[in-house]
Amino acid sequence: MKIVRSKAELRDALAEPRREGKRIGLVPTMGYFHEGHLSLMRRAREDCDVVVVSLFVNPTQFGPGEDLDSYPRDEDRDAELAALEGVDLLWTPDAEQMYPEGFATAVEVANDLTGVLEGDPAHRGPSHFRGVTTVVAKLFNSVQPDVAYFGRKDAQQAVVIERMTRDLDFPVQIEVLPTVREEDGLALSSRNAYLDAEQREQAAAISRALRAAERAASEGETSTSALVQATRDELRNAGIEPEYVEARSAEDLSPIAELNGRPVLVAVAARVGRARLIDNVVIAPPTTKKTEA
Ligand code: AMP
Repeated sequence: MKIVRSKAELRDALAEPRREGKRIGLVPTMGYFHEGHLSLMRRAREDCDVVVVSLFVNPTQFGPGEDLDSYPRDEDRDAELAALEGVDLLWTPDAEQMYPEGFATAVEVANDLTGVLEGDPAHRGPSHFRGVTTVVAKLFNSVQPDVAYFGRKDAQQAVVIERMTRDLDFPVQIEVLPTVREEDGLALSSRNAYLDAEQREQAAAISRALRAAERAASEGETSTSALVQATRDELRNAGIEPEYVEARSAEDLSPIAELNGRPVLVAVAARVGRARLIDNVVIAPPTTKKTEA
């Protein structure tokens, strides 16, 4: 595996495979790899001739007072893990490479998708997704991948990136892969490193709460506010006061009152200790309406 730091090195390393028409896969990450990241790399390895992983803790998607400075980092370990997955190129630009003096441009997907859930001003705010879409657009332009891989764990991010890709005609196929979880259900996240043993146990309630919503839906509940309530109840039992629990269309994040056979995203953000954790489940029950014979 080659580690490249500059865009020039990246371009050089990709010139030949591109000329030869090789299929290039990109896995964008902020590092501190866990099985969630590795699952994306593994899938890219299966699908593509050349696998590029970018590792960049993108400052523009962190708000003031968020954990940019303390975000966990271990590049040596990340490089070892990526190499074990058969990654060809680990691209680790620094902030000066990505945002040189005078950088003045942003890519922004409209408010309907970026001003809700994580992008709600009461939560991370729309500048979060402006940071995400701007950096992902830059990664797409620098790597020019055929396919890019993202995790469902960040469901809203995936919807926003799919929309940006479509709207701006990026010639990239977007693959969104399932959330990888610990045995007790906790979604893997680099931020889980902030949890002490007690908080780690408490954090498991987040996925338990989402399973409660799933269970209620499978038992025939169709009101999304009841699903949200089932999630909140389970969180409260564990002493977690969520930042939000919301049910929205998994396709366009519009509010949905009743399950109607379209996929519904139930999303949670909650602080446990100093970790701000997000998780979600997509509920897509079959329509229960029966047509008369
Ligand atoms: P991050 O380094 O946290 O920005 O994540 C990089 C990519 O890994 C994103 O596309 C995430 O959605 C994905 N990812 C993070 N955690 C998980 C997980 N537990 N399961 C699957 N994908 C994940």
